[in-house]
Amino acid sequence: MTGHSPLFRKKMVAFRPSQYRRPQLTQQPRLDADTVKASANWEVFYTSQLGPLKGRGPWRDALCPFHPDRHPSLRVNVETGQYKCMACGVSGDGLTLLQNRDGMTFAVALKTLRDFQ
Ligand SMILES: [Zn+2]
Repeated sequence: MTGHSPLFRKKMVAFRPSQYRRPQLTQQPRLDADTVKASANWEVFYTSQLGPLKGRGPWRDALCPFHPDRHPSLRVNVETGQYKCMACGVSGDGLTLLQNRDGMTFAVALKTLRDFQ
């Protein structure tokens, strides 16, 4: 106990409200899912993940990675990042695609998606 008390006192001083510095927290770049999704280039992302997308406009067609698909059944929205398969029914966005297809954790998927801006 006595051996720990100096460290303990030091911590208590460091976290005293008067010395609490909020800017230190916000200076760290933080990955926010909504921010990453909003700035993602979904067309580039989905093309890199699923191959060439077919069609024009916001909704494109691609081969579904969640079932054996020879005719493009996956509807992908290149503006919002949403997808839905007309054959097997899976739906989600770029993050759930990486998590469910590749087994990525949410954090890793978010970092991966961040590279597509
Ligand atoms: Zn499918």
